[in-house]
Amino acid sequence: MSQFINGKLIDGTTGETVDVIDPSNGTVVDTITLASSDDVKLAVQAARDAFPAWSGATPAERSAVLTKFAALMEERAEEFAQLESRQAGKPIRLTREFDVPGTIDNISFFAGAARNLEGKATGEYSADHTSSIRREAIGVIGSISPWNYPLQMAAWKILPAIAAGNTIVLKPAEITPLTTLLFAQVATEAGVPDGVINVITGRGSTVGAELLRHPDVDMLSFTGSTGVGRTVLEAAATTAKRVHLELGGKAPFVVFDDADLEAAIHGAVAGSLINTGQDCTAATRAIVHRSVYEDFITGVADLYSKVRLGPTQDPATDLGPLVSQARRDKVAEMVDRARAYARVIGGGIPEGELANGSFFRPTLVADATPDSEIFRDEVFGPVLAVTPFDTDDEAIELANDTPYGLAASAWTKDVYRALRATREIRSGCVWVNDHIPIISEMPHGGVKQSGFGKDMSTYSFDEYTVVKHVMFDLTGEKAKAWHRTIFALED
Ligand code: NAD
Repeated sequence: MSQFINGKLIDGTTGETVDVIDPSNGTVVDTITLASSDDVKLAVQAARDAFPAWSGATPAERSAVLTKFAALMEERAEEFAQLESRQAGKPIRLTREFDVPGTIDNISFFAGAARNLEGKATGEYSADHTSSIRREAIGVIGSISPWNYPLQMAAWKILPAIAAGNTIVLKPAEITPLTTLLFAQVATEAGVPDGVINVITGRGSTVGAELLRHPDVDMLSFTGSTGVGRTVLEAAATTAKRVHLELGGKAPFVVFDDADLEAAIHGAVAGSLINTGQDCTAATRAIVHRSVYEDFITGVADLYSKVRLGPTQDPATDLGPLVSQARRDKVAEMVDRARAYARVIGGGIPEGELANGSFFRPTLVADATPDSEIFRDEVFGPVLAVTPFDTDDEAIELANDTPYGLAASAWTKDVYRALRATREIRSGCVWVNDHIPIISEMPHGGVKQSGFGKDMSTYSFDEYTVVKHVMFDLTGEKAKAWHRTIFALED
């Protein structure tokens, strides 16, 4: 079953099937039937029909359902961890300790946040009127998510939307739809009414495009590449839909000369290899002061050589495969091209048993010039490019020399340097002396070509609600004082 529409698991009606492949060994995890245009229409209609009752439910009612949802997810945590690991090729330690607990925490957070939608106090901002603000759900949200964190991205899209009273039709990436489908099912078991969450599985260019242009969809929320993000904006223009975009990233990792170098080295390894580098906030551009540059490279290369590649089900495995052979080959080609202009340390496709999967060894690309492909474009693999700097001004300039602006980190013990970096680096998040941690209470989202709008946190409600001004006349007069500006009655 590959679609979840109006509370039921059904097959897509195209008849066209796609295998969900475990990228660690090439085996088929499941086969799904892709959605058709009719399925999209059905899902949007279900969401539209469910909207009045769900948006009319009290915050306490929505919160109670989400609280139960979190509890049911907790009971099924291991099932989610296994399925996410298999469909996306993630090491089981990552899904058990990051993807699944992060998702459950997100549900719990939004169960609470649903009861805390805040607004301005009702008041008399004109002597003759009382004004109040209603914060209202927008309607049907059309959402599209990527394959790198299928479960977490589904949670990030669905939870703020439905906590605020919207209904949603979500299209996951067709290569990793399984945990999103299960997530919607468990939500329904917890009491989320039929039609509030719908999942359609199909190709971006067909059902994705149709969802984006559907006239009954009120808002689009998209996580994925900047290129497809532009398509989303174009589609939104057709019916002037509200848009929320979480796009690509190329996070700078700035190491000043006074940094705790050991901490920076460990941070660079973890920050660049998380999810095999298929993370939009991953550390990808290390900008390192020349005085510690070679030590940094030696330290990272040494730890990279100790990283264990292996079967994703083995809790000892550190690094899983890329999500597909096609992605692995793309990474390998970019690294190969970098050999012509930079120093490549490590890397390569492992042989033996791992050759059945789409593994690629951790790769350091030292002396990558700021204008080179490896330093500018998203690689989305276990690759860290490194370049030196001499002055603080140069470090900040290099950090900002990118069309992206999603995340960054600064490594220093000097509080003034840290403050300067957090103020001057243009990105949605700046970590100091760490790189990667996210937390449900804090917003995630980019600037520049990394998109706009926030996931997680109560800031996400700004995306998924509209404020309505309600104004009451206080005078009861037939001719209000302000009417004189339009027509003056004679005394
Ligand atoms: P992608 O843009 O290729 O695909 C994302 C989704 O869009 C998929 O569901 C896909 O089917 C759909 N899609 C593709 N073409 C479409 C079209 N023409 N119309 C409608 N839908 C379409 O991205 P990806 O390769 O799946 O994911 C990797 C990208 O996502 C990277 O660029 C990464 O940085 C980004 N990402 C960003 C964040 C963030 O929070 N900013 C989080 C995760 C991933």
